[in-house]
Amino acid sequence: MNFKEYIRVIENWPQEGIRFKDITTLLNNGPVYKEAIDQLKQLVKDLKIDVIAGPEARGFVVGAPLAYALGVGFVPIRKSGKLPSQTIEAGYDLEYGKDKLAVHNDAIQPGQRVLIADDLLATGGTIATAINLVEQLGGEVVGAAFLIELTYLTGREKMKGIEVFTLMQY
Ligand code: 5GP
Repeated sequence: MNFKEYIRVIENWPQEGIRFKDITTLLNNGPVYKEAIDQLKQLVKDLKIDVIAGPEARGFVVGAPLAYALGVGFVPIRKSGKLPSQTIEAGYDLEYGKDKLAVHNDAIQPGQRVLIADDLLATGGTIATAINLVEQLGGEVVGAAFLIELTYLTGREKMKGIEVFTLMQY
């Protein structure tokens, strides 16, 4: 399936010079959304994953259905101040802007094998922060899965030693 047909590219959003890949047009198509999650499942199913962690908000729409499909747990990684129990936090730079991510400090047990999931890999800053949080809790990040990879931003190089799985490359 050519998933790119279902991605809408928005010029100059949210900032001048950004060509935003809008995944809502893929999510809106049931069979295509299902096929995308099924294909990611095939790519990661032998990694012996215990839990999937995904950053809000689009990491939820990839990570949660993938966790369901694999029958493993899902850990939400959220913006600072959103999670109700005790958290650990880490800061990072985005392709555009800065942010801070948080995770519940009991969400991952030491030694658990963790897959990180998000919609898109750009500079890798978001995922590096997610990896940092998981590793602070003693989790072992065994892979990272995305719908889209912006190869020209070379985020993959930030993730040495971690297998990266993507369905579309730009
Ligand atoms: P990075 O931290 O790798 O530079 O940026 C990736 C993060 O920013 C992801 O969480 C992703 O949701 C968001 N992001 C950056 N650019 C885009 C884009 O063009 N389309 C979508 N859907 N998300 C983007």
